[in-house]
Amino acid sequence: MHTHQDVLHPFIFENTPIRGNLAHLNVTYLDALQHQALPLLLKKALGELMTASALLISTLKMDGALILQLQSKGILKLLVVECNSDLEMRATAKWDEALLDEAIAEHKPDATFTQLIAAGQFVITLDPSIGEPYQGIVPIEGNSIAEMLENYMLRSQQIDTSIWLYCNGEQTAGMLLQKLPNQQAEDVDMWNRVNQLANTVTDAELTQLAPELLLTRLFHEEQVRLFDPRTTRAFCSCNRDNVANMLTMLGQTEVESIIEEQGSIQIHCDFCNKHYVFDEVEALQLFETPTAPITH
Ligand SMILES: [Zn+2]
Repeated sequence: MHTHQDVLHPFIFENTPIRGNLAHLNVTYLDALQHQALPLLLKKALGELMTASALLISTLKMDGALILQLQSKGILKLLVVECNSDLEMRATAKWDEALLDEAIAEHKPDATFTQLIAAGQFVITLDPSIGEPYQGIVPIEGNSIAEMLENYMLRSQQIDTSIWLYCNGEQTAGMLLQKLPNQQAEDVDMWNRVNQLANTVTDAELTQLAPELLLTRLFHEEQVRLFDPRTTRAFCSCNRDNVANMLTMLGQTEVESIIEEQGSIQIHCDFCNKHYVFDEVEALQLFETPTAPITH
């Protein structure tokens, strides 16, 4: 039993513009994917992306959701992870099943996640609870999810960020270091030094060591302050009202034509596997204008 699982630990290097986050996801990870039959390669990639989403949203002063999407025209079609500022997250993937089996058989045992990507792009959406969503789309650069995100942060946001991720299909862990922009460090070599130290981290240390111990082991000559942990959990925000809203936006003509073709409207949530059914009466009620009360 590890007590540091399903938590995110923010930390800072005292009196420097460098901060970090450590995340461990166990139950959150398994819960989020429990209704999906995923090949191990994609299950691991989603675990890394989930961990990255928690590490990244915790660096933002934003109330709302961060959506990370990896879109590709290769064997992998889509990875999507959504994490809100309360660290509630959901995740899913789309891929070509036959081609994936072939690729894994061909490259066995060294099939890698990046072999599944072709003409890929990263879509990063910030959806604040108040205000307009922001979306950034960049080509995928890098040989791992961590590298792809580091490149995005540097090129699109001009923020030096280093990310370490590890997922074995059962649990996932990660660490982020970030140099706050527009702040002059007294110790100019500090960023390089902590990165070199952090680069010595092993997958076993990242997943198994308690945060205090890990930070002491990596940065024992630096002054690191660890803040109170925050808990993560799996949560799907889909519900019948959201589906009804979506159908209303689709429009009456479209909804009527689906009813005519299929008898009812069936919507399936890829994240949590919930199934929503609107029969003809329920579907058409969505477009009824409420009648004015009769007054005498
Ligand atoms: Zn759902």
